[in-house]
Amino acid sequence: MAEQAIGVIGAGTMGSGIAQLAAQNGYDVIIRDIEQDLVDEGLNRIREDLAEAEDRDIIDDAEATFAHVSGTTDIETVTDEPTFVIEAVPEKADLKKSVFEELDEHAGPDTVLGSNTSSLPVTEIASATESPERVIGTHFFNPPVKMELLELITGHHTDDETVARAEELAEGLGRTSILVDDFPGFATSRLGVILGMEAARMVEQGVASAEDIDTGMKLGYNFPMGPLELGDYNGWDVRMEIGEALADELGRDAFKPPTIVRQMVRAGDLGVKTGQGFYNWEDDE
Ligand code: NAD
Repeated sequence: MAEQAIGVIGAGTMGSGIAQLAAQNGYDVIIRDIEQDLVDEGLNRIREDLAEAEDRDIIDDAEATFAHVSGTTDIETVTDEPTFVIEAVPEKADLKKSVFEELDEHAGPDTVLGSNTSSLPVTEIASATESPERVIGTHFFNPPVKMELLELITGHHTDDETVARAEELAEGLGRTSILVDDFPGFATSRLGVILGMEAARMVEQGVASAEDIDTGMKLGYNFPMGPLELGDYNGWDVRMEIGEALADELGRDAFKPPTIVRQMVRAGDLGVKTGQGFYNWEDDE
């Protein structure tokens, strides 16, 4: 079944990025946030990013693409046409569960419900619905229009039809999907976070500078970006939270953020978004 329209819940960083990606690939998209101002902010961001994509010859006609996108604050409107709804609200289990309870109530029985969670158990999110077989993790990476991976996470009850629909959507969006079982950290964060924490620990121990550690991994291991530079992009506050949760769930100290990361987070040196992390990004925008 080819999806007719895509619904997106949350018009923030990821929600607006996912909506833009869907519009660029010819889908009609409707995006929902809790207040009209937030919806408008998300729509404006999409419009600006599409204009930039047109300037760079990535798309032909920004306004024609934008015409595929609409916004609402209303749960009934966002579930009316779409046959695939992707949730991208903040990473809080209770909030996501209440969103899924609402979606389950309003979406038609054939609508797939995806969650963009980067670390919460999909099985727990799905437990808020009466139809957990149609719930799947659809983990996009930031920014969704540039990052080619779509990590699909199957919860305990996710059925084959839902997986097939999600794989088909990935293809329609021009993404490469990987299929992962619902286990803490999925396939990407589990490896990415441990590498970042270990690299930070190495800076703390004076093994080498951040630049040299990153250069080592880029030139010696063929990584496109070093683990510390990547952590600066992701934000060390977000990394720290995931690291702590994984240390807890998987019972391994290696995931725990070292003191240097905790201190950076306390000081507000979170990475690119604050202008300072392991590197200085102030002149970079
Ligand atoms: P964000 O804070 O930028 O946006 C979240 C939006 O959801 C906000 O606009 C908020 O008003 C809205 N919202 C809150 N409750 C809502 C509701 N009930 N209905 C509709 N909208 C509601 O967050 P984000 O960075 O876009 O992250 C969203 C999700 O994506 C999180 O689960 C996060 O872990 C995941 N994620 C984020 C990144 C990233 O780099 N930012 C990468 C991958 C995955």
